[in-house]
Amino acid sequence: MSTTAAALLAAVAAALAALLVAAVLGRRARRVAVRLTARRTGAAAGPAGPGPSGGSWAALDAAADALADAHDRRGEALARERPWRLELVDAIVGPALLFDGEERLQAANAAGWDLTGLAPGTTGASLVQALGSTALAEAVRRVRADGEPLALDVERGQQELAATVSLVGDEALVVVVDRTRERRVEDVRRNFVVNASHELKTPVTAIQTLAEALEVTLRDDPRRAAALAKRLTGEAERLARLVTDLLDLRRLEERGPLERVPVDLAETVRRAVAEALPRAEARRLELDVDLPDAARIAGVPGDVEAIVTNLVSNAVKYNREGGRLEVRVAPGDGAQVLTVRDTGIGIPQQDLDRVFERFYRVDTARSRATGGTGLGLSIVRHAVERHGGSVRVESLLGEGTTVTVVLPIAAAA
Ligand code: ADP
Repeated sequence: MSTTAAALLAAVAAALAALLVAAVLGRRARRVAVRLTARRTGAAAGPAGPGPSGGSWAALDAAADALADAHDRRGEALARERPWRLELVDAIVGPALLFDGEERLQAANAAGWDLTGLAPGTTGASLVQALGSTALAEAVRRVRADGEPLALDVERGQQELAATVSLVGDEALVVVVDRTRERRVEDVRRNFVVNASHELKTPVTAIQTLAEALEVTLRDDPRRAAALAKRLTGEAERLARLVTDLLDLRRLEERGPLERVPVDLAETVRRAVAEALPRAEARRLELDVDLPDAARIAGVPGDVEAIVTNLVSNAVKYNREGGRLEVRVAPGDGAQVLTVRDTGIGIPQQDLDRVFERFYRVDTARSRATGGTGLGLSIVRHAVERHGGSVRVESLLGEGTTVTVVLPIAAAA
């Protein structure tokens, strides 16, 4: 080979090497490597053939392949990096959001988008815009400054959230658990314990006082003692009713499949009416009971009995002297429909939704005076709902109340 040819070859080799280096650095690398391969193929097939310079071409060839492979691998890694982070966010149960160094929303999972109220994929929102909480935004800044993950509870409007903030590379990952429902349930339970204790305390205190008074009067004033003993019995009965209702509620809250057996709703109503008869007669109520011979459903006998006795008992208690009480059972659409109607005091419109709450009474004094526990209708609702049925109350103040219960004949599959 002449000196000129050797110099030319060296220059070409140097240029190719430079191009190869550029190729691994930039996105054009693959195209350049392909061009290089084409030239290389051309050169190999050219008139010079493998010749004395064949070794150099082979080395270049191997280097080009290695560089092209390296570029491919890096390209694949780069392509993988973003989805991997997104996959991480998607794999988190509950809302998860990623914010970049500028505190702008970069990604979120479905629950995260829900939490922000933004349309999925709308990136770029600020921390406060996305999370609606300055406390959470402040926490993200603190984590970015300290590099330490943080767990915190935040209120966001009506929501109670538990959040963790941590760094993933340059981005801040915010994972949120919505504890609103859980906290409400806790509140309801706490209130229930407070209310139940209060309700239990009333008859217990009365029993203690009456027992002391009885002790004093027993010898000297037998007539008064007899009256005290009667009141004492009344308070003990109230206490017993409360305990029974509380235990009923407890039983109704148990989860799991119901142990259903055939229950005759008509027969249950007949028994409940017979039991309420002395009280109904004492109030001179007119009774209108319309029942089929049998009205069988698949149910829990104790539940069905609780539904019927509570409704009939209310219709007697809240009726007016000489009023009317109607009880009907009729078949409906795959269900038996129980209707209990009275011509009593009625329920104010604004209380209609609340009468099913535990211990809710429209008129506490009246409920207590008639021996009410404030739990009857909540027991009814629980029992009806766990049978897959429904309960509806309609009422006109001063005119009367109608409660309609629909109980499916067969258990839902
Ligand atoms: P209570 O033991 O006090 O009767 P319930 O849970 O059965 O408790 O009922 C809740 C409240 O709803 C009662 O205190 C009463 O104010 C009202 N209520 C229930 N049934 C009737 C009815 N048939 N007529 C009028 N008011 C009713």
